[in-house]
Amino acid sequence: MTLEVITGPMFSGKSTELIRAVKREGYAKKKIGVFKPSIDSRYSEDNVVTHDGLKYPTFVIPINDDGIKLIYDIVKRENFDVIGVDEIQFFPTSIIDVIEKLADEKIKVIVTGLNLNFRGEPFEIMSTILPRADNIIHLSAVCATCGGRGTRTQRIVNGKPARYDTPVIVVGGQEMYEARCREHHEVIR
Ligand code: ADP
Ligand code: MG
Repeated sequence: MTLEVITGPMFSGKSTELIRAVKREGYAKKKIGVFKPSIDSRYSEDNVVTHDGLKYPTFVIPINDDGIKLIYDIVKRENFDVIGVDEIQFFPTSIIDVIEKLADEKIKVIVTGLNLNFRGEPFEIMSTILPRADNIIHLSAVCATCGGRGTRTQRIVNGKPARYDTPVIVVGGQEMYEARCREHHEVIR
């Protein structure tokens, strides 16, 4: 049916928006399945949980090709009308083929993903999926420094901006990340 992509930095309300959207589908009596990558065990093993504690049950999926196939098999087995995928940037790029295939069928697919990594560079998977979307919701957070438009994710290590040459994927919450605007986003080179 359609592919909708919800994007923005951490704390911009992507998971909140995903939960709102799938709950609405529930009122329309649709069969709903929500998936998330197993890497993101920040708050709960089997729920999408937002930064302010809202929850929705999910299938937790390994981030490899078997996991991608598993998503397809579960959707077919359960006959879902609507599926959500949270934190898509953690999955291999091969998930895009499966998502496109499902969206080409009668399924409404809603995914969320970070726009940029902590360096301020796009996640490859998002660059590939955004142009394919039927609808894009671009959210922003509040800059932790000035209260302006927080469009970027700031990683902080020992109270200082993280170095450019540190790994892109380090799972953490408010102890490690902030939303920042373009002006206040910092990377140490
Ligand atoms: P995301 O999935 O994009 O990381 P969530 O939906 O989990 O975002 O969380 C959004 C919530 O985070 C907001 O409703 C708000 O309560 C909280 N929050 C914490 N810090 C900020 C911030 N700097 N800007 C906006 N919201 C914030
Ligand atoms: Mg989220």
